[in-house]
Amino acid sequence: MKDKVIKKLIDAETKRQEGVLNLIASENYTSQDVREALGSILTNKYAEGYPGKRYYGGNSVIDEIETLCQKRALKAFKLSNDIWSANVQPYSGSPANVAIYMALAPIGSKIMGMRLDMGGHLTHGHAVSATGKIWKQVVYGVDEKTERLNYKELMQIAKKEKPKVLITGFTAYSRVIDFKQFRKIANAVGAVLVVDMSHIAGLVAAGVYPSPFPYADVVMTTTHKTLRGPRAAIIFSRDKFSKAIGKSVFPGLQGGPHVNQIAATAVALEESRTSDFKKYARQVLKNAKSLATSLEVNGWRVISGGTDSHVFLIDTWRQHVGGREASDRLEDVGIIVNKNAIPFDNRSPVDPSGIRIGTAALTTRGMKESDMKKIALLISDTLHNKNFSKTRSEVKKLTKKFHIK
Ligand SMILES: *Cc1c(COP(=O)(O)O)cnc(C)c1O
Repeated sequence: MKDKVIKKLIDAETKRQEGVLNLIASENYTSQDVREALGSILTNKYAEGYPGKRYYGGNSVIDEIETLCQKRALKAFKLSNDIWSANVQPYSGSPANVAIYMALAPIGSKIMGMRLDMGGHLTHGHAVSATGKIWKQVVYGVDEKTERLNYKELMQIAKKEKPKVLITGFTAYSRVIDFKQFRKIANAVGAVLVVDMSHIAGLVAAGVYPSPFPYADVVMTTTHKTLRGPRAAIIFSRDKFSKAIGKSVFPGLQGGPHVNQIAATAVALEESRTSDFKKYARQVLKNAKSLATSLEVNGWRVISGGTDSHVFLIDTWRQHVGGREASDRLEDVGIIVNKNAIPFDNRSPVDPSGIRIGTAALTTRGMKESDMKKIALLISDTLHNKNFSKTRSEVKKLTKKFHIK
């Protein structure tokens, strides 16, 4: 690279990524092939429109790439193209959600989504997001006692508020979502059921987490979390909705699609069908269970008492460590997490009561349950403010043993 300044910064970031234990639940490490597609000359091309219906010339190869990506998207989630369509153009998860609501909910109408501070996403209608300004959010949360979804209560809220769209799929909910119950609620009030499976997509593709497809009308996923692709998103829709969603993505919201992203997504989708990927997804779950259990054994309260996925929350405040302090201390020894609100948190979002932990990235690096047990001890010591220098050297040892490919 001729730009030495950027080159130096990329090298520094590479070194940083190599040298830390990344437990951020929404991150992962892409394959060389994914990055090769992402950094390819495909980025030079304008392709407004859809395959066979472009506004620019020169798109014969691009048409093949986009069509292939659509096919692979359906195949990765075992969907029939008689029933489902895949739109692979969304730049990322947030614009994809906006495009979905634009297609399904008139401006000013109600969309029902999980509260941000209980594990929802900003784009599920939060006031600071455009989705909360353009549409009116009806919120739901988790049950105070179980810290899990309470479908009876959700039904009551939906019946009272009659939202146009019901959204499920979260950023910080560790348990299995009962998509069938969401279908029942949507049916009872005539809402369209949108599942945002951004976090769990890789687990769904591998068959280790229940699929939302039998029940959903529309499914959105980002491609860069457990699915291990480039930063992008896909919207799957049943035929009844696919035309409106297509128009909503382009020309409704976006201009030219990022064809390099689409090619990289196609690569990741093909990778997701390999036995290696299935092994990885199973290990992600085993690692999450092992890490959560080991932290519990060390006295840390896990929200809802465990996890069925790649992610879980720790109530650090129970032991008088704020979420910000916890994440800062951990970063200081080379363990990267994010501070996170826990259900019914009464501390501020900038310094909430907990941290969020996810195991997808470290599993991609090749770590197993025995490593998780070690990491749990390192986290526990650090949160208890002890053994910092020993922990730093243990972190280094682990990161040297498990490389990023
Ligand atoms: C990550 C995420 C998004 C947004 O994705 P971006 O690519 O960051 O815009 C939307 N919904 C959920 C549930 C997510 O986890």
